[in-house]
Amino acid sequence: MSNTSKRRPLAVIADHDAASVSRMRLAIEDLGFRVEEVENGVMACAAFVEHEPDIMILNAQLPIQDGLKTCADIRRLPGGDAAAIVVLSERDDVEIVDAAYSAGATEFVPMPVNWPAFGYRIRSMLRASGDYASMRRTEATNKVLLNAMPDTFVVLDSDGAVSDFIPGKLEHPLAGPSQRVTCLSDILPTKAIKVWREARRFVNEKNQATRVEFAVEHREGVPSYYEARFVPYVDRKTLALVTEITDRKLAEQRIRRLAFFDTLTGLPNRQSFRLQLGGMITEADEEGDKVAVLYIDLDNFKRINDTLGHTVGDGVINAIAERLSGSIRGGQGSSDDDTPFGLARLGGDEFACAISGFEDEGVLSSIADRMSQLLRQPVRYEGHEFVVTPSIGISVYPDDADNVEDLLKNADVAMYQAKDAGRDSVHFYSDTLAIRNLHGLALENDLRRALDNGELELHYQPKFQLSTWELVGVEALVRWRQGDGSYIPPSTFIPMAEKSGQIVPLGDWVLRTACKQAREWQLKYGRSTRVAVNISSQQFYQSDLKETVMKALFEAGAKPSLLQLELTESILMRDIDKTIATLEYLKNNGITLAMDDFGTGYSSLSYLRRFPIDALKIDRSFVMDLEESEHGAAICAAIIAMSRQLGLTVIAEGVETEEQVMFLQSHDCDQIQGYLFSKPIPAGEFAKRFLTTTKAPLKIDKSL
Ligand code: C2E
Ligand code: MG
Ligand code: MG
Repeated sequence: MSNTSKRRPLAVIADHDAASVSRMRLAIEDLGFRVEEVENGVMACAAFVEHEPDIMILNAQLPIQDGLKTCADIRRLPGGDAAAIVVLSERDDVEIVDAAYSAGATEFVPMPVNWPAFGYRIRSMLRASGDYASMRRTEATNKVLLNAMPDTFVVLDSDGAVSDFIPGKLEHPLAGPSQRVTCLSDILPTKAIKVWREARRFVNEKNQATRVEFAVEHREGVPSYYEARFVPYVDRKTLALVTEITDRKLAEQRIRRLAFFDTLTGLPNRQSFRLQLGGMITEADEEGDKVAVLYIDLDNFKRINDTLGHTVGDGVINAIAERLSGSIRGGQGSSDDDTPFGLARLGGDEFACAISGFEDEGVLSSIADRMSQLLRQPVRYEGHEFVVTPSIGISVYPDDADNVEDLLKNADVAMYQAKDAGRDSVHFYSDTLAIRNLHGLALENDLRRALDNGELELHYQPKFQLSTWELVGVEALVRWRQGDGSYIPPSTFIPMAEKSGQIVPLGDWVLRTACKQAREWQLKYGRSTRVAVNISSQQFYQSDLKETVMKALFEAGAKPSLLQLELTESILMRDIDKTIATLEYLKNNGITLAMDDFGTGYSSLSYLRRFPIDALKIDRSFVMDLEESEHGAAICAAIIAMSRQLGLTVIAEGVETEEQVMFLQSHDCDQIQGYLFSKPIPAGEFAKRFLTTTKAPLKIDKSL
């Protein structure tokens, strides 16, 4: 009989409270254990060494040395790393639970103990702990025990062959019930066999338990995941306990994906990009390398979303993400796995790419150029065709910033500079005054202050009739004057003002100032120069534009014919009926309406027919392309021809060369505007150059 009692697993209880110990002894004996009792932490360690128990139960509040310290000490003893240790405590707050698990407890159980639940926990813990000391004794009795458990057991010979296989009741079993298993290749794929061999070697050499995770594909492409715990067994054999962890693994993967990957494109997100960048910086420090961040923003992407909806927008973003990945693979910064190294979607239409180990900045330029070229190819999606160009900002560690956050921020600043330079371009970060200003700005507050303090200014750019070279109008463009006399361009602060809602007061100010200016010029020079004011879509929808416009004209004493509004296609696409009503009201009151940046917003000319528009401005990007590509020329010619048919005035913006003028002239374009004649300039200068002469000023600005 004593033999039988010896074979029963052993529990050591360390507790100083006699009443609690006797209750526990009864419960644990009921579970089939023998029990040894000790009173304090030091004795608990000694009992562990002496008895090699199957389980240690420690009260956290032990005398001499508390239960947590005892737990940590046992973990450091031979065989202690695989021991099953339960910590009991009267406290169950987060700190003590954390402390218990940090000390290496296998389980934490609050007191008073719920004994039936405790029994289950101990049984499952014993299985999972991997310490099958009690099973080392005879294989035959063990087999009975093992058979009763749901997990799969594999006994490996000292030479690695499978000497016993107990299939268990896994959801995705490693072998069928009648399958003979003699070697690992009967149950495992090659990759897992390698991991198992290493684990078995470790157990044999160190006489210690270990655990590994592995995957098996049962059905085409769908893996199940398992955990195997390896423990030393009789006769230099190794016992592997296999538990299925597919659910846990999938949950982990899902959480990881959500936390670190962008759900739309599957690319790493901002969070994981930061981590990756941090890692690259650390490595670069060791190697004396540099790390560059390319900040990529799609020009005018918002319009695709606004005009065609998010589903189309998402489709385009996906196509762009694929192209970007393609542009990096095979170039600098590539990696051997499928995820392009260092590429991430930061949100919306913003991407970033981190590159290290490059020779010089020329390499970065050519990578950025390659990206631009690839992105510029038309994207076809659901019968639509889009041309999406990127603006790319580049900053380099350690030259431009010495940490992840600043590196990203400066690449972003450089990207804005690229946009200012006319979009579709690449810009390296440089610490110029304007950028420094941008940096330090808490832009939102500063913009409010700018409005109050009169830091905003309008500059004016002339428009000419192409057939007669007469001045026919002027566009008002807002500028933010800085203390040092430099200006922040509208592309930097208008989008922000739109987001914060400040576009409404800002737009009011622009309208009032422009109307007053037009009236003042009329009175002073006797010439009616129609002033065009840009209206953003937020302004159109967030305020009563009709009232604002009429009030501005009234205050200035100006006739409505002195004012033109420049609208973008995104305005027209939103609430069509309301838009038409507002536009008709304005038009009936004598204000002219022009469609700005035409061709970038994907609305067709025939669609425009529904709106009471007077004029159409061909987007600068097409005018720029006139000489470069047949495509550009064809688009300009088509826009001009069709506007003719619709009875619209056509204005070409961004005219910079005489060749462009000749092309536009030969195609009968009505009006032109561009740096070739004048940049936007302050009101005084404008009057001096263009209003004091009565003759048509066909003077090309040679300084540009
Ligand atoms: P936009 O209305 O299309 O204005 C034309 C832009 O092209 C202006 O940039 C102008 O300076 C620039 N430009 C004109 N001719 C040439 C040229 O020959 N070559 C080049 N490279 N550029 C040329 P700016 O002033 O930076 O304004 C950018 C945009 O900001 C404007 O585009 C407009 O959408 C917006 N914006 C400007 N002022 C206001 C405003 O008061 N209210 C609103 N809502 N938006 C404004
Ligand atoms: Mg405009
Ligand atoms: Mg424009």
